[in-house]
Amino acid sequence: MGKVILKLDNVSYRYDDAEADDYVLKDINYSFETGKVYAIKGKSGSGKSTLLNLLGGLDTLTDGKIYLGKKDFSSFTEKEKREYKASFCGFIFQDYKLIDELTVKENIALSLELISDEEEKEKRIDEILKEVDLVGYENRYPKELSGGQKQRVAIARALIKKPKFVLCDEPTGNLDQKTSKQILDLLKRISKDCLVFMVSHDE
Ligand code: ADP
Ligand code: MG
Repeated sequence: MGKVILKLDNVSYRYDDAEADDYVLKDINYSFETGKVYAIKGKSGSGKSTLLNLLGGLDTLTDGKIYLGKKDFSSFTEKEKREYKASFCGFIFQDYKLIDELTVKENIALSLELISDEEEKEKRIDEILKEVDLVGYENRYPKELSGGQKQRVAIARALIKKPKFVLCDEPTGNLDQKTSKQILDLLKRISKDCLVFMVSHDE
């Protein structure tokens, strides 16, 4: 697949329970393309997570349009919406969102639901564990990991499905400076051909 463009056309958003004119996002126009990393900066409460949720198809616009290539988001069928969220986008959050009851390997395997070939699954998991430097940790539970290791599991879970877009919501917000740098370097390295959205309130 060649370059993919995501285009925002007068995008506005207001939460359902807000006043009629209380917009979190108002008339945003922008084009994003794969192969680049975009930093979305702004102070706490400025609407960064809201924007990321819209880009990831987790919420619906109040006004305006988002185009994936030539296709308008609002024309997606339920199946297309599901595929966009499950296969096209990989999500990485500040609080990792790992499942405590599952091991490292099981958390990562959750992303491969759509692959039924067990051998292929094992191969992909082994590869990604090497990429995020977690070989030997596959049977640990999240509570037995450091913050940086947890975020590496979340990165593996997001990137094992080979997404086109990687949406990161303050991915280093809970990490010290040195670990943050390692996580950002890793994200940069293994999301080369993707479109990366990096949300941060921090330079
Ligand atoms: P950021 O990620 O930049 O800190 P958010 O996108 O989380 O900002 O929030 C933007 C604004 O929308 C804030 O004023 C916040 O209080 C409000 N907000 C966030 N989530 C909801 C919600 N579920 N319902 C109503 N208002 C919300
Ligand atoms: Mg936020």
